[in-house]
Amino acid sequence: MVSKDMLRLGRVRSAIRELFEFGRKRAAIVGDENIYDFSLGNPSVPPPAALTEEMVRLLSECDPSALHGYTSAPGSNETRDAIAENLNRRFHTSFTRRNLYITCGAAAALTSVLRALTVDSSTEFIAIAPYFPEYGCFAATAGGTLVVVPPDVKNFQIDFDALEERINIHTQGVIINSPNNPSGVIYSEATIQRLSDLLRKKSAEIGHDIYLISDEPYRELNYTDQPVPFVTDYYDASIISYSYSKSLSLPGDRIGYVLVGNAMPDFEDVYDAIAGSARVQGYVCAPSLLQKAITRAAELNLMPDLSSYRKNRDALYEGLSAFGYRCMPPDGAFYLFLEAPGGDGDAFAEAAKEEDILIVSGRSFGCPSFVRVAYCVAYDTIIRALPGFGRLYQKFCK
Ligand code: PLP
Repeated sequence: MVSKDMLRLGRVRSAIRELFEFGRKRAAIVGDENIYDFSLGNPSVPPPAALTEEMVRLLSECDPSALHGYTSAPGSNETRDAIAENLNRRFHTSFTRRNLYITCGAAAALTSVLRALTVDSSTEFIAIAPYFPEYGCFAATAGGTLVVVPPDVKNFQIDFDALEERINIHTQGVIINSPNNPSGVIYSEATIQRLSDLLRKKSAEIGHDIYLISDEPYRELNYTDQPVPFVTDYYDASIISYSYSKSLSLPGDRIGYVLVGNAMPDFEDVYDAIAGSARVQGYVCAPSLLQKAITRAAELNLMPDLSSYRKNRDALYEGLSAFGYRCMPPDGAFYLFLEAPGGDGDAFAEAAKEEDILIVSGRSFGCPSFVRVAYCVAYDTIIRALPGFGRLYQKFCK
């Protein structure tokens, strides 16, 4: 006998994975070059050359038992010190190793945090659409429930009235993601300020802290000259989930961290509960080689090269807008969130398959009348896919 919930999760692939697998099958028939696969958020730029050099050096020079041995459960002191110092230099914060727990990417960071904050089966976490679909099963598996705030489709910031309506005594946390997957929108400073004010007010009303869980795998993928607001500056009960999957193009290497802000009320309890949650889920001692690699990345302050994403974004945004498509100009991450011509994201994404264009319906992000186009692909793929997007537009808008 097995768990019904786990069986369902294991058998039913996410819509994104499903589409990716469809693309693999089609590619075997029509050839890789004739599939325009905009389904997955797999970075298309290689990791920074300096990081690859460091990893080669680590492998060839380090004592193997030091390189491959266990570190302490939350990560080595060296790694956590280097990350804390890097953040302090960049954001004028005052973190130490004690703020950080190194994890296997943002997924492990989030599951560790959600489980740590789930008090009992009445616990609720709020996500703001559009949101990363895995939040739903992460919250449910932690033992709580995900409550979704409908999107503010005018500008994909936050519909504060709708958010306030959903906060109640069971609310433990609000999950935000900026720069956002899938909208590409960055929450403005005014949004973060207003959100913090609202959470303070509602925490006082319901008699316990509402945690702000900021999921930030795209923090450095910012095409504007405005910094992404750093949430611990605005709200005391802030927890950051970070990943190097996108910023350093290391998605398969599974490395990231949880950061608990210094002003967190009951800091020790919150941090230690996250450590306990990570422990029961098997996320102790993130891969040692990768811990050393991100230590060097922090020391060298390695950043992503945004030039090719920016070029892709501009070509896609301008090309699609010229056909008549509508979307917010994406300021960050590497996604463009289109209003589906005809208003049905499922139907539009399905029709796009006939052009061998793979895009994801917005339904699983909580926005069924949109589609997500992941532009972390070769520039040439965008240029060659545009005529197909043009035909699709004509089909749905004639
Ligand atoms: N959160 C968001 C918003 C994401 O887009 C992703 C991955 O695409 C994740 C979390 C998971 O990231 P990781 O690969 O580091 O587990």
